[in-house]
Amino acid sequence: TSIFAGVALAPRDPILGLNEAYNADARATKVNLGVGVYFDENGKIPLLSAVKVAEKARLEAMPPRGYQAIEGNAQYNQAVQKLLLGADSELLAAGRVVTAQALGGTGALKIGADFLKGLKADAKVYISDPSWENHRALFEAAGFVVENYPYYDAETRGVNFAAMKAFLLGLAPGSVIVLHACCHNPTGADMSDAQWAEVVEVCRERALVPFLDMAYQGFAEGIEPDAVAVRLFSASGLQFFVSSSFSKSFSLYGERVGALSIITADKDESARVLSQLKRVIRTNYSNPPIHGGAVVAAVLSSPELRQMWEDELGGMRVRIRAMREGLVSALKSKGVAQDFSFVTAQRGMFSYTGLSAAQVEVLRADYGIYAVSTGRICLAALNQNNLAYVADAIAEVVK
Ligand code: PLP
Repeated sequence: TSIFAGVALAPRDPILGLNEAYNADARATKVNLGVGVYFDENGKIPLLSAVKVAEKARLEAMPPRGYQAIEGNAQYNQAVQKLLLGADSELLAAGRVVTAQALGGTGALKIGADFLKGLKADAKVYISDPSWENHRALFEAAGFVVENYPYYDAETRGVNFAAMKAFLLGLAPGSVIVLHACCHNPTGADMSDAQWAEVVEVCRERALVPFLDMAYQGFAEGIEPDAVAVRLFSASGLQFFVSSSFSKSFSLYGERVGALSIITADKDESARVLSQLKRVIRTNYSNPPIHGGAVVAAVLSSPELRQMWEDELGGMRVRIRAMREGLVSALKSKGVAQDFSFVTAQRGMFSYTGLSAAQVEVLRADYGIYAVSTGRICLAALNQNNLAYVADAIAEVVK
């Protein structure tokens, strides 16, 4: 018998499954609001101008393709640190930050989880309820028991902060808590700055291990304001983890550009932490690929390209916000009684619309509009061509 005879068929990834169904749909009016990707006004994944310039220069220079250092591109890692912590960060000056280039935000979470497992084998990991679906799987794959902390409040469509805080106060010291640094996926509901400050104090009081996931820096208010949670943690004197992803903010999904940063107590600790993190990376994939990190480093270290990038990222942010406002006002003008104004308060690419699984199914079957069964939609998939169609359909299903 085959050595694979006993292999069971794994369940399909729910969102990728949605894509397959969308691709197979023959209706010309179909709309895919399921996938977490930024599409431009023409429904295309953009290739940013700053990226084009940096890529062209790289292609012309034809650099050799030796192995990178285990922790990746030093110029890239420094640029990531400055985005997270600010160019004049005291932590950077004190050598308290270890950063390794990683294969997207997912790769950063993976090496962070593996490193943590070696450090705190018995700790439990807590993720928000709900969270990006891969958080649980990633930390479980690293050997952790993963549980939820209260987060989203379906009544207010915001954060149930009282419940969250009370829960965190009851956790065992050393528990790992995964936090969405901004633009919470899937709900779009973020904490206020004051609530973040309280979370920092709870982490201090309970000796928790904060792990911030930063996958959408620049999509809420801008590069600096979106770093507020990271900055509050960095001012606290605590140690913490941050995973960065540039998949969305540079529209470089398939190049797998991310980073793991670990904030330590001092320079000596940084050297020891980096040495162990390198072992983790070495046994996972040895060292990261060159291209994506080199392009991002080139953009971030050239004042002109950086400005070009921030302008384009700002354009994405403004367009998403316009789609949020457009959807809310279109629903209102169609006489929908339910108040959808929460959609404009939510931040980033996603909204938890409150649509039920049954309503999502009607959208798919009757209109060819694909959303996640939880009611999550990606606002960045809306544009002036499909907005009215989507609003009409939602208005019909919520009647
Ligand atoms: N973390 C969150 C919250 C995300 O939404 C995503 C992507 O959807 C990631 C991490 C992973 O990003 P990447 O595609 O860079 O691995």
